[in-house]
Amino acid sequence: MAEKKTKIIPDEFKPEVASKVVTIDKQDFLLQNDAMFTFYQRTAGELSPFFLGIKNDRKIIGCKCPKCGLVRVPPMVTHCPDCDFAPTKLLEVGQVGTMNSTPPITYFATSMFADKAPFGRGRVILEGADTALSVMLYTTTGILVPGLIKKGTRVKVIFKNERVGQISDIFCVSASELTAQQVAKKGLLESEINWEAPKEPKFPKPGEKNIADFKHSVKELQALAIKMSHSKRARRAIEGWKRNISVKTRAGEFAMYIDDGNFKIEEKKLPSPDFIMACEDIKTLVDGLMYRGSITDSVITKKLWISKNLEFNTIFKLDRLARFLVMEQKEKKAK
Ligand SMILES: [Zn+2]
Repeated sequence: MAEKKTKIIPDEFKPEVASKVVTIDKQDFLLQNDAMFTFYQRTAGELSPFFLGIKNDRKIIGCKCPKCGLVRVPPMVTHCPDCDFAPTKLLEVGQVGTMNSTPPITYFATSMFADKAPFGRGRVILEGADTALSVMLYTTTGILVPGLIKKGTRVKVIFKNERVGQISDIFCVSASELTAQQVAKKGLLESEINWEAPKEPKFPKPGEKNIADFKHSVKELQALAIKMSHSKRARRAIEGWKRNISVKTRAGEFAMYIDDGNFKIEEKKLPSPDFIMACEDIKTLVDGLMYRGSITDSVITKKLWISKNLEFNTIFKLDRLARFLVMEQKEKKAK
């Protein structure tokens, strides 16, 4: 999940040099794109030690009131409001904690967070702290689905390799996904975690009917893929996108290729796919691609498993591919 250097205003938000004509009261007016720049710098103020601790030292800093002993993380007060404003002292707290509520998971993020979804957002009470810190939550086991992290789950703070001094420099994963050494290590980096060891679901041995259904479904998908590749509209859903996906089902395995508008299904094993999809019943995927249900929903409801959290983006695109083909067919019929 390495992040590249990003600009305050992402490139895609910058309007192009362009103009258009608008007609008001039967008169044409020229409308041109123009810009106004307003940048500002914002100080972290008294929270600077907290953010500098994350950025420079991979430490989580809180503050302790010498009178009541309450430890607050982040150190949001310099004087304790409960103790006649006694000055608080900065101190380091632990990097393992317990979720104090079950975190909701965001699958459909705003454009600001789209590249980070799906993620959980919840509050953790770190060892040595009395207040809860709000954090982002991820999993190394594939996609983040409900039930993986709950109220009471032990989680570990992970530091991103590239840190700028923001709360998004850290996130948490369930401690149960890490080794004892990793859990004990302070300042554990994102690059030190094994993101490539997702737990693939195991399926029971297929019966004859499963195998026959599988063969039939693959043929159905192949025919559908040809239609999609020939549809101008459907092609747009996967424009500029390239993925070789290995799809595993109870009765067999096939390859799905997304290649800048082209979509192809082949009954073969891929030695090094970009990611793996697994669903017990191939019909889950057939229904999704035939626009009889959403593939996104299948992931959320755990009918379909994918090996990489961030490939959720590709799932969106597949749903769009199915929808765009149906839309084009409807429009043609209407004509
Ligand atoms: Zn106090």
